[in-house]
Amino acid sequence: MENEVLTYDALVVGGGIAGEETALNLAKMDYKVLLVEKELSIGGKMILLSKVFPTLDCAACITTPKVSETARHPNITIFTGSEVKGIEKKGERNFEARILRNPRYVKEDACTGCQECELVCPVVVKDQYQYNLVGRKAVFVPFSIANPRIAAIDIENCSLCGACEKACPSDAIDFTQEPEEKTYQFKSVVVATGYKLFDPIKMPRYGYGKYKNIVTSMQMERELAPTRPFNTVLRPGDGKMPDNLAYVLCTGSRDHTVGNPICSQVCCMYSIKQAQLLLGSLPMADVTIYYLHIRSFGKGFNEFYETAKGMGVEFVKGKIGKISEKENGNLVLRYDDIDTGQVKEAEHDMVVLSVGILANDEIGPVFKTQKLEFDDYRYVKQVDELKRPAMTNIDGVYVAGAASGPMDIPDSILSAGAASSEAASYLAEVE
Ligand code: SF4
Ligand code: SF4
Repeated sequence: MENEVLTYDALVVGGGIAGEETALNLAKMDYKVLLVEKELSIGGKMILLSKVFPTLDCAACITTPKVSETARHPNITIFTGSEVKGIEKKGERNFEARILRNPRYVKEDACTGCQECELVCPVVVKDQYQYNLVGRKAVFVPFSIANPRIAAIDIENCSLCGACEKACPSDAIDFTQEPEEKTYQFKSVVVATGYKLFDPIKMPRYGYGKYKNIVTSMQMERELAPTRPFNTVLRPGDGKMPDNLAYVLCTGSRDHTVGNPICSQVCCMYSIKQAQLLLGSLPMADVTIYYLHIRSFGKGFNEFYETAKGMGVEFVKGKIGKISEKENGNLVLRYDDIDTGQVKEAEHDMVVLSVGILANDEIGPVFKTQKLEFDDYRYVKQVDELKRPAMTNIDGVYVAGAASGPMDIPDSILSAGAASSEAASYLAEVE
C-alpha cells in the first residue's frame, strides 16, 4: 500500500456494533483508529439479524448507517479479512501489533461488486453468511449489504478454472495476491471481539445436524431477515412452509453438562421476537416456546413477552429430554412438564434451537508481553466491573461489548461508549 500509515492512536479489534461505535467515538474526538475485522465485511452479527427486540425495528436499517459512517470516516482505517497476530506492550501509550491481511484475490480498488464472477463460477459451497442454509460460489460478495461490497475468492474451494477472471469486466481478479503481515504502533487497544454461538452438535440428544428440520435461532434469523435466502420461512428438509414450530430455550446456556453454566441474556427475548415475526410471516402457524424461566428483565421486555402471549404464542414450562424424527420429517419432543411433573411428548414440524452465546477467547494468545486476563467463563475480565467496566488488567487496553460477557445490542453500545471514553482519557493523559 502506498504511503501506508503505520502509527495510530487506537487499535480496535472487531468490527461488530461495539467495535464500530468505539471507533466512531474515538474518530470524532480526532483520534486516528485502525479497525481490524477478521470477516470480509464489518457489521458483525447484527447486520445479519432480522429485527431487534423489543421495538421490532429492522436490524439492518439501524446498523447499515453506522457501518457506512465507520467506513467513510476519514480518521478510521479498516482492514477486513485481517487478523491481529500479536500485541506487545512496550511502555505507556506504546503498543506494537502484528497484523495479517489475508488476500481476497480480488483488487479492492477495481472490484465494483457487480457479481458477474459469481454467475460463471462452477464451484458451490455452503454460504457461511446464510448460516449454511443455501450455497454460494467460490468467488462471492459476502452478502448483499456487506461493507466493503467487494468480492473475495475462497481459495480453499476454488478450482482455479479462471472463469471469473475472464468474466470480470473490471479485471479485478488477481491470483498473485499474497498474505501480508506488518507491524503497526498504537497508543491504546480496544478489544471488541464479540462472542461465539453455541454449536448444538454438542448436544446429540437434540439431533441437530442429523434431523433436517431442526435449525438454530441464527438460521431462523436469516429466514426472517430482509436479506433472507428464501422469500418466506421454509423448513429446510423439504422446503414446506411450517405450520407448527417449537423453540427450545437455553440450548447450550445455563447447562453445566455442556460447560456453559451462565445465562446468555438474549435468548428468551430473541426467541419471543422471532415467534412474533413468525406469526406475522405465517399467520396460520402455531408457535410453542419450551422454557425453564423467561428472563424478560429489560426496559419494555416484559410487555413484549405479554404481547407474544396475547398474539397466541404458547409457552410451556418444560425441560426437553430428547428430540426424535418421524418419517415425514416432523419432530417429537419428549419433555418434563415442570408445572404438572409429568413426562410428555409433543409433535412439531420444525424446531428452532435457541442457542446460547459463548466467549470468543481467541484474543487471549494475541497478547504477548502482558497476559490479558479472562473471567471464569473465558470472557475478558473486567477488573473493576462496577466503577470502570471497560478496564482490563492491562493499562491502556479496554473491552467493549460482548467480549466482556453476554449482552444485548443497547448494552453493547453503552459498553462501547465506556470503552471509548476510557481510551480517550488514557490517550489524553500526559506522562
Ligand atoms: S471481481 Fe469483477 S466480476 Fe466479481 S464482483 Fe468484482 S468487478 Fe464484478
Ligand atoms: S477460478 Fe475459482 S473462483 Fe474463479 S470461477 Fe473458477 S472456481 Fe470460481
